[in-house]
Amino acid sequence: MEKQFDLQKHIEQGVEKIVTDTLKATLKNPKESAFMAKFAIASRGASKTRLKFEEEGLHVPGFLIASITSSCNLHCAGCYSRHNNATVDCEPMHQLSAEDWLKIFKEAGELGISFIMLAGGEPMIRRDVIKAAAEMPGIIFPIFTNGTFIDEAYLRLLDDHRNLVPVLSIEGGREITDARRGEGIYDIVTSNMEKFRSKGLIFGASITVTTENYREVTSPEYVNALAEKGCKLIIYVEFVPVTEEAAHLAPGDAERAYIAEAIDAFRRSNDQIVLLSFPGDELAMGGCMAAGREFFHINSHGGAEPCPFSPYSDINIRDTSLRTAIESPLFRELQVQGLLNGPHVGGCVLYEKRAQVEAIAAAGKQ
Ligand code: SF4
Repeated sequence: MEKQFDLQKHIEQGVEKIVTDTLKATLKNPKESAFMAKFAIASRGASKTRLKFEEEGLHVPGFLIASITSSCNLHCAGCYSRHNNATVDCEPMHQLSAEDWLKIFKEAGELGISFIMLAGGEPMIRRDVIKAAAEMPGIIFPIFTNGTFIDEAYLRLLDDHRNLVPVLSIEGGREITDARRGEGIYDIVTSNMEKFRSKGLIFGASITVTTENYREVTSPEYVNALAEKGCKLIIYVEFVPVTEEAAHLAPGDAERAYIAEAIDAFRRSNDQIVLLSFPGDELAMGGCMAAGREFFHINSHGGAEPCPFSPYSDINIRDTSLRTAIESPLFRELQVQGLLNGPHVGGCVLYEKRAQVEAIAAAGKQ
């Protein structure tokens, strides 16, 4: 499949648009616009840094996903992280320390990476790592949280460090959210939205899209309702069926076409809220962005993986540098063998081709 357009340029334009849109949307909020103005400069600098490395032959991804804990207080139905044993109920083992993560964040900044998504498990359990991230104002840290650990101390930290951007997980209305996440979670999430708005904080929502909620969560009514609550960003993540029983929840081609059309229609009519769709947007970018193409994943004990949905690694960042992880032989082989942008059925290509990924990872270890 030939490369449809310049991915790097698209990402840089994407970052600029998010910054400009956010700046436009935050004019009424001096603390936020002050931060965003500084970040706009930092993000332009970061793009130049990545371009310099590109010229030297190193492709630096635009963002990282960092799972900073294997613990979580919830047991959401169909949780991919629990299914992969990346989230467990026993005491976490071999987790990276806050110092380890700060070292990674610093190197990411030097390489020109300006977005690091913090995930888990429940990332807010690692208050020490979130405080370390707060010390890196040139990088924006979207924090994918279930919202149950937000307290006064966290509200103060988010208020004082605007590079920390909470992204609350929600599934739609109260009924479907509580059905998947547990009784009372919808009320906790929406009351946090109110607290964030009253403090003038930028925040987002992360929605796992299934065959049961795709019409509701992409409807203008639902998106506008979130925008009215102060939400500035929605990240749609297509459900990946980790068990046969859950396969019916995975969107098919018809649902995927509906979701893409609904999101495009909203983007054309409203720029007050930024909508991103994974892997939906990847199709328009010439294929899967994982394995260092535009991002990769670091798990809670330092393993560098192509993506949270592809838990295989041949490098542990604890023993080496982020730069070495970017040049992972596994990542290179996935790109060389065309697994990222080849034809495939279903949403997540690496999950779809997990047998091939596993074989490549195993071959690399011999
Ligand atoms: S909050 Fe996230 S990590 Fe925890 S169980 Fe739910 S989906 Fe899994």
